Amino acid sequence: MDDDKPTVDMMVATCRTPGCPMEGIGEIAPFFANPAPPTYRGQCGQCEQPHTDIVPAP
Ligand SMILES: [Zn+2]
Repeated sequence: MDDDKPTVDMMVATCRTPGCPMEGIGEIAPFFANPAPPTYRGQCGQCEQPHTDIVPAP
């Protein structure tokens, strides 16, 4: 059993900051699932704002 390992899920994170070069462009990346909300946390590599649009990768 590997219960000590955090869960890593592949997610699509999309920046929604108006004017950001990455606005509306989804990036697939591994995210750790946090025990408390928000479950997935990340920030845009361009505007450095927290991602507000993180959905499971297909
Ligand atoms: Zn951005």
